[in-house]
Amino acid sequence: MSAKIIDGKAFAADVRARVAEQVAAMKADHGITPGLAVVLVGEDPASQVYVRSKGKQTVEAGMNSFEHKLPAETPEADLLALVAQLNADPKVNGILVQLPLPEHIDEAKVLAAIEPAKDVDGFHISNVGLLATGQKAMVPCTPLGCLMLLRDQLGSLSGKNAVVIGRSNIVGKPMAQLLLRDSCTVTVAHSRTADLPDVVRRADIVVAAVGRPEMVKGDWIKPGATVIDVGINRLPPAEEGGKARLVGDVDFDSCVAVAGAITPVPGGVGPMTIACLLANTLTATARAHGLPEPEGLTA
Ligand code: NAD
Repeated sequence: MSAKIIDGKAFAADVRARVAEQVAAMKADHGITPGLAVVLVGEDPASQVYVRSKGKQTVEAGMNSFEHKLPAETPEADLLALVAQLNADPKVNGILVQLPLPEHIDEAKVLAAIEPAKDVDGFHISNVGLLATGQKAMVPCTPLGCLMLLRDQLGSLSGKNAVVIGRSNIVGKPMAQLLLRDSCTVTVAHSRTADLPDVVRRADIVVAAVGRPEMVKGDWIKPGATVIDVGINRLPPAEEGGKARLVGDVDFDSCVAVAGAITPVPGGVGPMTIACLLANTLTATARAHGLPEPEGLTA
């Protein structure tokens, strides 16, 4: 038997369409246009691609996009001043500072300076605490995207055994909190976990966020489990002159034969991240104006 392949690209397009619909209604009913500010410091090529893509999709959803591109040598104080200005600007409902930042800038200090209500990345310590205590938080985009895919696939997650591989602040830990909130029994595995294959074999839900190409093998997977692959790893071309290959943290070919459902790479979790950034911007705008939470777009 072969697993159902979860089409994250189509699901993300649907999320973006639902965001656009609710943005149009917000404009028509309340005269409010959500605004997302994205700040990029330096010329990192991957970050430039992400920022361009975020700006384009923000505008396509009917929101205002404010892009701030600063040179790599920008002093930390100038970046903090820009964040303060965006915090105070009522047209800006969401603020995203693209990571990584140049070495001379203290990332933690900059993230802490973002107004938590506008922190659409969900990295501010207040949002981390709100999520951990089951309160209304801004939730990091990638784990939120994984949660949406899982709910769509499985309906209620209550009582399921979930194993999250990876304990990073941006994926693993918030993912574990979200699954706990949906009443899963959650195990967080990491680089020091003993007998990882055995731990994974108990899981009805596996979320792999490790950054190691094709690490999770088919014989680690419980038959019928749902496998969410967050990893994005670039491998050199299979043959000379060929194209670089993008693979996940899951060995797709061996896992697809055992799992019940699985996300591919590319086309699985990846497209959900920006879709959830737009959803978070809409949520932040609704909360700022005391409007109801957007439907089906929050944790
Ligand atoms: P990270 O490097 O911050 O964390 C990796 C985690 O994996 C660590 O907690 C570590 O303990 C664990 N780990 C490392 N080796 C391990 C091993 N052998 N066995 C078990 N656990 C091990 O990475 P991250 O930022 O969480 O990202 C993880 C992956 O997800 C990367 O491939 C990244 O590119 C990808 N990613 C994708 C998206 C997306 O939009 N789809 C977003 C963020 C990250």
